[in-house]
Amino acid sequence: EAVVNKIAAGEIIERPENAVKELIENSLDSESTIIDVLLKEGGLKLLQISDNGTGIYNDDLPLLCQRFSTSKITKFEDLSSVKTFGFRGEALASISHISRLTVTTKRKDAVHGWRAFYIDGKLAPATGHGSSAPQPCAGKQGTVVSVEDLFYNVPSRKVALKNGAEEFRRILLLIQKYAIHNESVSFSCKKFGDSAATLSLSSRFRRIDRIRQVYGSNLAKNLLPFEVYGGSLLEGFSAQGLVSNANYASKKTVFLLFINNRLVESTDLRKNLEEVYSEFLPKGASPFLYLSLNIPESQVDVNVHPSKRVVHFLHDQEIADLLRSHLSKVLENEDA
Ligand code: ADP
Ligand code: MG
Repeated sequence: EAVVNKIAAGEIIERPENAVKELIENSLDSESTIIDVLLKEGGLKLLQISDNGTGIYNDDLPLLCQRFSTSKITKFEDLSSVKTFGFRGEALASISHISRLTVTTKRKDAVHGWRAFYIDGKLAPATGHGSSAPQPCAGKQGTVVSVEDLFYNVPSRKVALKNGAEEFRRILLLIQKYAIHNESVSFSCKKFGDSAATLSLSSRFRRIDRIRQVYGSNLAKNLLPFEVYGGSLLEGFSAQGLVSNANYASKKTVFLLFINNRLVESTDLRKNLEEVYSEFLPKGASPFLYLSLNIPESQVDVNVHPSKRVVHFLHDQEIADLLRSHLSKVLENEDA
């Protein structure tokens, strides 16, 4: 059983970036307004996410890292209307099978916090011997998840992921995208041992400021608002965002796509929108698009591979058509 779990975990968490994504989403689910990420060797040695969210009940700690343990669905009917990002209850379980996982957490009204250590989905003694029970500790409201020695027991992954700098770069890109989408949340990312953070975006930085800081002022001054609502067929559908105008040219398309607040990828949609831009941009120039789509949860298939970040949804062709035609309007108006 341990082997099966380890393999399953390796499929969900392919690299540190996947763990960071799951942990950031957990922090956002728990209403955090401050999320700090600390990394050692690109997260391979240490990957720590601290938040100021609701915290976790002490009673929930023993089963926290069991597969399918989630506080986000309480009854079967909830499955069709999950509002939060995660609902599979697999992230912490997976991570605990391939790392040494410590969770420190304090609820708002609790007198003190609790620290729990996990191995293979179960509570374990932090020092390798003694009690497995969560230990009381000091701390402020919120949760700190520390992942040490990721893939220590997955030799193939360890071989494949030797370059901490590359992992760090990927994680930074990921945090930047979440920070642009969640403009009211402060994000920081720091390398272990550095005195200053590599990335620091306080909640005073609005979306446009964040885009400026991450992608530069040339992009920030060439952005157009994008907003469209679905008609009868696409009831409940909406899209908001910011897209670059005809004066902006990137070497490669930057496409930040969030569906129901979850960062996803859609090659189809990217190609569709690139086609629209090809009428407005010189050859070789590529656009920037940040789009946040809201699709009724009942029309989104969330049961896809978490590390692939690909989602399927109903009416994908109609949605692509609607976005295409709106994008051409936005760009034409700007042209005029
Ligand atoms: P899921 O997010 O799919 O429910 P996870 O394995 O990611 O599953 O997390 C399991 C549970 O642990 C969550 O449902 C939530 O109750 C709790 N949890 C995890 N991270 C946090 C956090 N940062 N703050 C509060 N609760 C958390
Ligand atoms: Mg989760």
